[in-house]
Amino acid sequence: MSTTFINGRKICPFGGNYEEKLCPISLYSKLTKLEIKCRFEHAGCNQILSYESLDQHEQTCDYQSTSCKGCRKIFLKKAIDQHEQSCASIEMLCDICNSNYKQSKIVKHFGECVRNQLVEIHTQSTKTDNVIEDLRLTDEVLQYKIHDFDYELKECRKNVLNSTQFQRIEREIHGMKNAINQIQDKQNRITQTQLEIQILNSQMKRLEMFVQKLLFVSLFLLVFTILLCVMLGNYDTYNGLKRTFKMTFNGILSSLTENV
Ligand SMILES: [Zn+2]
Ligand SMILES: [Zn+2]
Ligand SMILES: [Zn+2]
Repeated sequence: MSTTFINGRKICPFGGNYEEKLCPISLYSKLTKLEIKCRFEHAGCNQILSYESLDQHEQTCDYQSTSCKGCRKIFLKKAIDQHEQSCASIEMLCDICNSNYKQSKIVKHFGECVRNQLVEIHTQSTKTDNVIEDLRLTDEVLQYKIHDFDYELKECRKNVLNSTQFQRIEREIHGMKNAINQIQDKQNRITQTQLEIQILNSQMKRLEMFVQKLLFVSLFLLVFTILLCVMLGNYDTYNGLKRTFKMTFNGILSSLTENV
């Protein structure tokens, strides 16, 4: 026997206590030898099945009864698809407007639906046209304003350039630039002169040292000549040379004191 339960629950169809037990092997081997007619035989099914395949066949048997989703009339399972394809009461879902309609009204609904969509598109298109026209007008106004601003800006610039104050300031700036250039020229000349003075100073020092050396050498020569005169007894020359020595010595002294 197949293990069919009431509404999928494991209870005894006759109200007895239900207890599930493994089928004894001796009994099971007898069951597998049975050949059983489908329970929809009365509706035309002539299948004869084994104990094991009976359950699955009866669940899918084409001769079992089933009701139409639209008109609720009862049909054989094998005929239900064909019926439902043409049943006027079947509800359909429209992909365009997302609403339900009866299968028999498909042409009418499609016509209305398309017409509604076209009206909606037309409304949206008109709105878009209005927005575009608004934008175009705004753009035109802005262009005029930009043109006006541009003109005003040019006028302002012209006024500034022509104003006497601006021209006076420009002249003053020019004068200041010239004065700055002159000052820079003078500074350059001062630097140049300072350099020349430094060179002259160093030349001066070298010259003075040379003169001092020369005086010392002549002094030495005078002393030598005086000593020579004393040794030779030439007193006239000695006295003359003595005077020259004094003058030369005084000259050296004065040059040294000047340097100090
Ligand atoms: Zn069957
Ligand atoms: Zn139907
Ligand atoms: Zn629709």
